[in-house]
Amino acid sequence: MSATVLDGKVVARVVLDEVRTRVAALAEAGEGVTLATILVGDDPASATYVRSKRRRAAEVGIRSVHHALDAGVTQEEVVGLIRSLSSDPGIHGILLQLPLPGGLDDQAATQQIHPSKDVDGLHPTNLGMIVLDRSVLAPCTPSGCLRILDHYRVPVRGANVVVVGRSFLVGRPLALLLATRGIDATVTIAHSRTRALPEVTRRADILVVAVGRAEMISSEHVRPGAVVIDVGINRTDSGRLVGDVDFEDVARVAGAITPVPGGVGPMTVAMLMRNTVIAAENRIRGA
Ligand code: NAP
Repeated sequence: MSATVLDGKVVARVVLDEVRTRVAALAEAGEGVTLATILVGDDPASATYVRSKRRRAAEVGIRSVHHALDAGVTQEEVVGLIRSLSSDPGIHGILLQLPLPGGLDDQAATQQIHPSKDVDGLHPTNLGMIVLDRSVLAPCTPSGCLRILDHYRVPVRGANVVVVGRSFLVGRPLALLLATRGIDATVTIAHSRTRALPEVTRRADILVVAVGRAEMISSEHVRPGAVVIDVGINRTDSGRLVGDVDFEDVARVAGAITPVPGGVGPMTVAMLMRNTVIAAENRIRGA
Protein backbone atom coordinates (compact mmCIF):
# COMPACT_ATOMS: atom_id res chain seq x y z
CA MET A 1 0.00 0.00 0.00
CA SER A 2 1.38 3.43 -0.90
CA ALA A 3 -1.54 5.76 -0.08
CA THR A 4 -1.64 7.98 2.99
CA VAL A 5 -4.58 7.04 5.21
CA LEU A 6 -6.82 10.04 5.97
CA ASP A 7 -7.88 9.22 9.52
CA GLY A 8 -11.40 10.49 10.24
CA LYS A 9 -11.10 9.58 13.91
CA VAL A 10 -8.19 11.99 14.32
CA VAL A 11 -9.98 14.83 12.51
CA ALA A 12 -13.24 14.17 14.40
CA ARG A 13 -11.31 14.46 17.67
CA VAL A 14 -10.01 17.90 16.60
CA VAL A 15 -13.54 19.04 15.71
CA LEU A 16 -14.99 17.69 18.96
CA ASP A 17 -12.28 19.44 20.99
CA GLU A 18 -13.20 22.74 19.28
CA VAL A 19 -16.87 22.11 19.99
CA ARG A 20 -16.15 21.31 23.65
CA THR A 21 -14.33 24.65 24.03
CA ARG A 22 -17.19 26.58 22.42
CA VAL A 23 -19.81 24.78 24.55
CA ALA A 24 -17.79 25.55 27.68
CA ALA A 25 -17.61 29.25 26.71
CA LEU A 26 -21.41 29.34 26.38
CA ALA A 27 -21.80 27.57 29.71
CA GLU A 28 -19.56 30.17 31.37
CA ALA A 29 -21.87 32.82 29.98
CA GLY A 30 -24.77 30.95 31.62
CA GLU A 31 -26.05 29.27 28.43
CA GLY A 32 -26.20 25.47 28.36
CA VAL A 33 -26.52 23.85 24.92
CA THR A 34 -29.37 21.37 24.45
CA LEU A 35 -29.99 18.97 21.58
CA ALA A 36 -33.36 17.23 21.22
CA THR A 37 -33.20 13.78 19.60
CA ILE A 38 -36.24 12.06 18.11
CA LEU A 39 -36.33 8.34 17.34
CA VAL A 40 -39.50 6.86 15.87
CA GLY A 41 -39.90 3.09 16.10
CA ASP A 42 -37.42 0.43 17.17
CA ASP A 43 -35.08 -0.05 14.20
CA PRO A 44 -31.85 -1.30 15.85
CA ALA A 45 -29.50 0.56 13.47
CA SER A 46 -31.33 3.87 14.00
CA ALA A 47 -31.35 3.31 17.77
CA THR A 48 -27.58 2.67 17.71
CA TYR A 49 -26.97 5.86 15.69
CA VAL A 50 -29.02 7.97 18.12
CA ARG A 51 -27.25 6.44 21.12
CA SER A 52 -23.83 7.19 19.68
CA LYS A 53 -24.84 10.79 18.84
CA ARG A 54 -26.11 11.32 22.39
CA ARG A 55 -22.88 9.85 23.78
CA ARG A 56 -20.79 12.25 21.69
CA ALA A 57 -23.02 15.14 22.80
CA ALA A 58 -22.42 14.26 26.45
CA GLU A 59 -18.66 14.07 25.81
CA VAL A 60 -18.55 17.68 24.58
CA GLY A 61 -20.90 19.05 27.23
CA ILE A 62 -24.08 19.20 25.13
CA ARG A 63 -27.18 18.09 27.03
CA SER A 64 -29.46 15.84 24.99
CA VAL A 65 -33.16 15.30 25.58
CA HIS A 66 -34.45 12.15 23.95
CA HIS A 67 -37.95 11.56 22.56
CA ALA A 68 -38.77 7.94 21.67
CA LEU A 69 -41.98 7.56 19.69
CA ASP A 70 -43.79 4.33 18.94
CA ALA A 71 -43.59 3.04 15.33
CA GLY A 72 -47.39 3.33 15.16
CA VAL A 73 -47.35 7.08 15.72
CA THR A 74 -49.13 9.31 13.17
CA GLN A 75 -47.48 11.94 10.97
CA GLU A 76 -49.46 14.58 12.90
CA GLU A 77 -48.01 13.40 16.20
CA VAL A 78 -44.45 13.53 14.84
CA VAL A 79 -45.09 16.98 13.39
CA GLY A 80 -46.67 18.13 16.68
CA LEU A 81 -43.56 17.14 18.63
CA ILE A 82 -41.21 18.79 16.11
CA ARG A 83 -43.24 22.01 16.19
CA SER A 84 -43.22 22.16 19.96
CA LEU A 85 -39.43 21.59 20.06
CA SER A 86 -38.97 24.19 17.32
CA SER A 87 -40.69 26.84 19.43
CA ASP A 88 -39.10 25.76 22.74
CA PRO A 89 -36.44 28.35 23.67
CA GLY A 90 -34.61 25.74 25.78
CA ILE A 91 -33.83 23.62 22.70
CA HIS A 92 -30.98 24.69 20.39
CA GLY A 93 -30.89 21.77 17.95
CA ILE A 94 -33.32 19.09 16.78
CA LEU A 95 -32.16 15.76 15.43
CA LEU A 96 -34.85 13.68 13.72
CA GLN A 97 -33.34 10.25 13.08
CA LEU A 98 -34.10 9.16 9.50
CA PRO A 99 -35.47 7.13 7.88
CA LEU A 100 -38.83 7.22 9.62
CA PRO A 101 -40.71 3.90 9.66
CA GLY A 102 -43.08 3.03 6.82
CA GLY A 103 -46.05 5.31 6.25
CA LEU A 104 -44.35 8.40 7.69
CA ASP A 105 -42.99 11.10 5.39
CA ASP A 106 -39.31 11.97 6.10
CA GLN A 107 -39.30 15.12 3.99
CA ALA A 108 -42.56 16.53 5.33
CA ALA A 109 -41.39 15.95 8.91
CA THR A 110 -37.94 17.47 8.28
CA GLN A 111 -39.61 20.60 6.88
CA GLN A 112 -41.27 21.19 10.24
CA ILE A 113 -37.93 21.63 12.01
CA HIS A 114 -37.16 25.33 12.41
CA PRO A 115 -34.22 25.97 10.02
CA SER A 116 -32.20 27.59 12.84
CA LYS A 117 -32.42 24.31 14.83
CA ASP A 118 -31.91 21.99 11.86
CA VAL A 119 -28.54 20.59 12.96
CA ASP A 120 -28.62 17.87 10.28
CA GLY A 121 -28.72 20.68 7.70
CA LEU A 122 -31.42 18.94 5.65
CA HIS A 123 -34.24 21.49 5.82
CA PRO A 124 -34.91 22.98 2.35
CA THR A 125 -33.88 26.41 3.66
CA ASN A 126 -30.47 25.13 4.76
CA LEU A 127 -29.98 23.13 1.56
CA GLY A 128 -31.01 26.25 -0.40
CA MET A 129 -28.49 28.40 1.45
CA ILE A 130 -25.76 26.27 -0.13
CA VAL A 131 -26.99 27.28 -3.59
CA LEU A 132 -26.88 30.92 -2.43
CA ASP A 133 -23.28 30.53 -1.15
CA ARG A 134 -24.51 31.46 2.36
CA SER A 135 -24.52 28.11 4.09
CA VAL A 136 -24.65 28.21 7.93
CA LEU A 137 -25.91 24.75 8.92
CA ALA A 138 -24.57 22.46 6.18
CA PRO A 139 -25.41 18.74 6.04
CA CYS A 140 -23.05 16.83 8.31
CA THR A 141 -21.58 14.17 6.00
CA PRO A 142 -20.68 16.60 3.18
CA SER A 143 -19.15 19.09 5.61
CA GLY A 144 -17.29 16.22 7.28
CA CYS A 145 -15.73 15.31 3.90
CA LEU A 146 -14.65 18.93 3.39
CA ARG A 147 -13.13 19.06 6.86
CA ILE A 148 -11.04 15.95 6.18
CA LEU A 149 -9.67 17.56 3.00
CA ASP A 150 -8.99 20.77 4.89
CA HIS A 151 -7.29 19.02 7.82
CA TYR A 152 -4.92 17.10 5.56
CA ARG A 153 -4.33 20.23 3.44
CA VAL A 154 -5.47 18.56 0.23
CA PRO A 155 -5.41 21.30 -2.43
CA VAL A 156 -9.01 21.82 -3.55
CA ARG A 157 -8.98 25.17 -5.38
CA GLY A 158 -9.21 24.46 -9.10
CA ALA A 159 -8.91 20.71 -8.51
CA ASN A 160 -10.97 18.31 -10.58
CA VAL A 161 -13.33 16.63 -8.14
CA VAL A 162 -15.65 13.81 -9.16
CA VAL A 163 -18.50 13.04 -6.75
CA VAL A 164 -20.13 9.67 -7.43
CA GLY A 165 -23.70 9.76 -6.05
CA ARG A 166 -26.25 12.57 -6.16
CA SER A 167 -28.44 12.02 -3.09
CA PHE A 168 -29.84 15.08 -1.29
CA LEU A 169 -28.10 13.75 1.83
CA VAL A 170 -24.54 13.51 0.52
CA GLY A 171 -23.59 13.76 -3.15
CA ARG A 172 -25.56 16.78 -4.31
CA PRO A 173 -24.90 19.14 -1.38
CA LEU A 174 -21.25 18.06 -1.29
CA ALA A 175 -20.82 18.81 -5.00
CA LEU A 176 -22.35 22.28 -4.50
CA LEU A 177 -20.23 23.01 -1.43
CA LEU A 178 -17.07 21.99 -3.29
CA ALA A 179 -17.94 24.41 -6.09
CA THR A 180 -18.73 27.40 -3.82
CA ARG A 181 -16.56 30.51 -3.91
CA GLY A 182 -13.63 30.07 -1.56
CA ILE A 183 -13.48 26.30 -2.05
CA ASP A 184 -13.43 26.61 -5.83
CA ALA A 185 -13.20 23.01 -7.02
CA THR A 186 -14.23 22.04 -10.54
CA VAL A 187 -16.89 19.45 -9.88
CA THR A 188 -18.40 16.60 -11.86
CA ILE A 189 -21.36 14.67 -10.46
CA ALA A 190 -21.63 11.02 -11.52
CA HIS A 191 -24.57 8.70 -10.86
CA SER A 192 -26.17 5.45 -11.95
CA ARG A 193 -26.76 6.75 -15.49
CA THR A 194 -23.21 7.97 -16.00
CA ARG A 195 -21.61 6.32 -19.03
CA ALA A 196 -18.10 4.87 -18.79
CA LEU A 197 -17.75 5.62 -15.08
CA PRO A 198 -14.07 4.57 -14.82
CA GLU A 199 -13.14 7.10 -17.53
CA VAL A 200 -14.99 9.85 -15.66
CA THR A 201 -13.57 9.00 -12.24
CA ARG A 202 -10.01 8.71 -13.60
CA ARG A 203 -10.14 12.45 -14.38
CA ALA A 204 -10.44 13.21 -10.68
CA ASP A 205 -7.70 14.73 -8.56
CA ILE A 206 -10.14 14.08 -5.71
CA LEU A 207 -12.69 11.27 -5.98
CA VAL A 208 -15.60 11.15 -3.52
CA VAL A 209 -17.82 8.08 -3.56
CA ALA A 210 -21.29 8.04 -1.93
CA VAL A 211 -23.19 5.23 -3.64
CA GLY A 212 -23.98 2.46 -1.16
CA ARG A 213 -22.48 -0.46 -3.15
CA ALA A 214 -19.83 -2.49 -1.39
CA GLU A 215 -16.35 -2.01 -2.88
CA MET A 216 -17.62 -0.99 -6.35
CA ILE A 217 -14.71 1.39 -6.93
CA SER A 218 -11.48 -0.40 -7.87
CA SER A 219 -8.03 0.77 -8.92
CA GLU A 220 -9.21 1.00 -12.55
CA HIS A 221 -11.43 3.93 -11.47
CA VAL A 222 -8.60 5.91 -9.87
CA ARG A 223 -5.87 8.07 -11.37
CA PRO A 224 -2.52 7.30 -9.72
CA GLY A 225 -1.94 9.74 -6.88
CA ALA A 226 -5.59 10.84 -6.56
CA VAL A 227 -7.21 11.50 -3.17
CA VAL A 228 -10.14 9.16 -2.49
CA ILE A 229 -12.90 9.89 0.03
CA ASP A 230 -15.14 6.88 0.68
CA VAL A 231 -18.52 7.81 2.17
CA GLY A 232 -20.13 4.39 1.75
CA ILE A 233 -21.00 2.14 4.66
CA ASN A 234 -21.97 -1.39 3.68
CA ARG A 235 -22.12 -4.66 5.55
CA THR A 236 -20.92 -7.72 3.65
CA ASP A 237 -22.57 -11.16 3.94
CA SER A 238 -19.85 -12.11 6.41
CA GLY A 239 -20.76 -9.11 8.58
CA ARG A 240 -17.67 -7.02 7.70
CA LEU A 241 -18.12 -3.26 7.38
CA VAL A 242 -16.78 -1.98 4.04
CA GLY A 243 -17.00 1.18 2.00
CA ASP A 244 -17.92 1.79 -1.62
CA VAL A 245 -14.21 1.64 -2.44
CA ASP A 246 -12.13 -1.53 -2.55
CA PHE A 247 -9.64 -0.20 -0.02
CA GLU A 248 -6.78 -2.67 -0.54
CA ASP A 249 -6.87 -2.39 -4.32
CA VAL A 250 -7.31 1.40 -4.49
CA ALA A 251 -4.74 2.14 -1.76
CA ARG A 252 -2.08 0.71 -4.13
CA VAL A 253 -2.60 3.56 -6.61
CA ALA A 254 -4.22 6.45 -4.69
CA GLY A 255 -2.17 9.21 -3.07
CA ALA A 256 -4.46 9.27 -0.04
CA ILE A 257 -7.62 7.46 1.02
CA THR A 258 -10.15 7.38 3.86
CA PRO A 259 -10.73 3.96 5.48
CA VAL A 260 -14.09 2.40 6.36
CA PRO A 261 -14.69 2.31 9.24
CA GLY A 262 -12.82 5.26 10.70
CA GLY A 263 -13.03 7.69 7.79
CA VAL A 264 -16.09 9.81 7.00
CA GLY A 265 -18.31 8.06 9.59
CA PRO A 266 -16.83 9.67 12.73
CA MET A 267 -16.82 13.04 10.94
CA THR A 268 -20.58 12.97 10.42
CA VAL A 269 -21.27 12.82 14.16
CA ALA A 270 -18.57 15.40 14.92
CA MET A 271 -20.07 17.85 12.42
CA LEU A 272 -23.51 17.28 13.96
CA MET A 273 -22.08 18.45 17.30
CA ARG A 274 -20.45 21.41 15.55
CA ASN A 275 -23.77 22.39 13.96
CA THR A 276 -25.43 22.15 17.38
CA VAL A 277 -23.01 24.61 18.97
CA ILE A 278 -23.29 26.92 15.93
CA ALA A 279 -27.10 26.84 16.28
CA ALA A 280 -26.80 27.71 19.98
CA GLU A 281 -24.29 30.53 19.38
CA ASN A 282 -26.49 32.01 16.66
CA ARG A 283 -29.59 31.90 18.88
CA ILE A 284 -27.78 33.56 21.74
CA ARG A 285 -26.37 36.24 19.41
CA GLY A 286 -29.88 36.70 18.01
CA ALA A 287 -28.63 35.81 14.52
P1 NAP B 1 -28.58 6.97 -1.93
O1 NAP B 1 -29.57 8.01 -1.54
O2 NAP B 1 -29.02 5.57 -2.17
O3 NAP B 1 -27.84 7.50 -3.25
C1 NAP B 1 -26.93 6.69 -3.93
C2 NAP B 1 -26.42 7.41 -5.16
O4 NAP B 1 -25.51 6.54 -5.82
C3 NAP B 1 -27.51 7.77 -6.16
O5 NAP B 1 -27.31 9.08 -6.63
C4 NAP B 1 -27.31 6.75 -7.28
O6 NAP B 1 -27.58 7.24 -8.58
C5 NAP B 1 -25.82 6.48 -7.20
N1 NAP B 1 -25.51 5.16 -7.74
C6 NAP B 1 -26.12 3.98 -7.48
N2 NAP B 1 -25.53 2.99 -8.18
C7 NAP B 1 -24.55 3.55 -8.90
C8 NAP B 1 -23.60 3.07 -9.82
N3 NAP B 1 -23.54 1.77 -10.15
N4 NAP B 1 -22.74 3.93 -10.38
C9 NAP B 1 -22.77 5.24 -10.07
N5 NAP B 1 -23.64 5.77 -9.19
C10 NAP B 1 -24.52 4.94 -8.62
O7 NAP B 1 -27.40 6.87 -0.87
P2 NAP B 1 -26.80 7.97 0.17
O8 NAP B 1 -27.77 8.25 1.23
O9 NAP B 1 -26.17 9.10 -0.58
O10 NAP B 1 -25.63 7.09 0.80
C11 NAP B 1 -24.58 6.57 0.03
C12 NAP B 1 -23.68 5.70 0.89
O11 NAP B 1 -23.12 6.53 1.91
C13 NAP B 1 -24.39 4.58 1.64
O12 NAP B 1 -23.50 3.49 1.75
C14 NAP B 1 -24.65 5.15 3.01
O13 NAP B 1 -24.73 4.16 4.01
C15 NAP B 1 -23.41 5.98 3.18
N6 NAP B 1 -23.55 7.10 4.12
C16 NAP B 1 -22.55 7.24 5.02
C17 NAP B 1 -22.58 8.29 5.90
C18 NAP B 1 -21.44 8.44 6.84
O14 NAP B 1 -21.59 9.05 7.88
N7 NAP B 1 -20.26 7.90 6.50
C19 NAP B 1 -23.64 9.19 5.91
C20 NAP B 1 -24.65 9.04 4.95
C21 NAP B 1 -24.58 7.98 4.05
P3 NAP B 1 -29.10 7.63 -9.05
O15 NAP B 1 -29.36 8.97 -8.43
O16 NAP B 1 -28.97 7.68 -10.52
O17 NAP B 1 -29.99 6.55 -8.53
